Amino acid sequence: SKLWQARFFTTVNHLRDLPDTHVPEIAFAGRSNAGKSTAINILTNQNRLAFASKTPGRTQHINYFSIGGAHVAQHRHDPVRVDEIEAMLVDLPGYGYAEVSGSAKLHWQKLLGDYVQRREQLAALVLIMDSRRPFTDLDVQMLEWFAPTGKPIHCLLTKADKLNRNEQANTLRQTQKILDSYVDEEGEGFPFTVQLFSSLKRIGVEQANDKIIELLGL
Ligand code: GDP
Repeated sequence: SKLWQARFFTTVNHLRDLPDTHVPEIAFAGRSNAGKSTAINILTNQNRLAFASKTPGRTQHINYFSIGGAHVAQHRHDPVRVDEIEAMLVDLPGYGYAEVSGSAKLHWQKLLGDYVQRREQLAALVLIMDSRRPFTDLDVQMLEWFAPTGKPIHCLLTKADKLNRNEQANTLRQTQKILDSYVDEEGEGFPFTVQLFSSLKRIGVEQANDKIIELLGL
């Protein structure tokens, strides 16, 4: 897969430092511990590209991974030429960790809200939600920030291995129903999609890969 070409590109802590690249980006957002890092690592076929942070919620950084140009750099850590980059994967800081201080929460809110609402290069959002408890308050916040852009959101219901077949089907149906309930002023729906996902049991990995490739226009 093209996603296997992912290389660390840069870390950003303020919007003014976002890279001046003009390729499409897809951003991964989710509550801390929802399985975001594991999903990114599985999709890029790399063990430690996205770090599962030891202190959840403390990484308030946006990490950029490049796609493309990897055929030029022979080794995983060789730099990729910027003009060879075809797309970016963007790992947003996990949210919702209880012990994060008020000021860190505000920083998160400003950084993520501004990024998803204003970043032109952002083609779509991958919203990572634990299949056992989707739509936490902050997931809904992300949806509501992003919906007005009219861009697609693809939800991954992670840890689907923890549910039986029946529960999987129910959660999938319920989630699509909630996503379909979002409408604009004219009553039009949004391009919101959802699938089951498990890094552990490799459920939906190929489906997610294909969707991301499609959303990036690769
Ligand atoms: P993040 O905070 O969203 O980046 O979450 P992590 O990727 O660090 O995962 C949080 C915890 O969930 C870790 O203990 C993972 O081992 C576990 N986890 C991640 N994906 C899966 C999965 O597909 N199935 C199960 N059962 N556990 C998972």
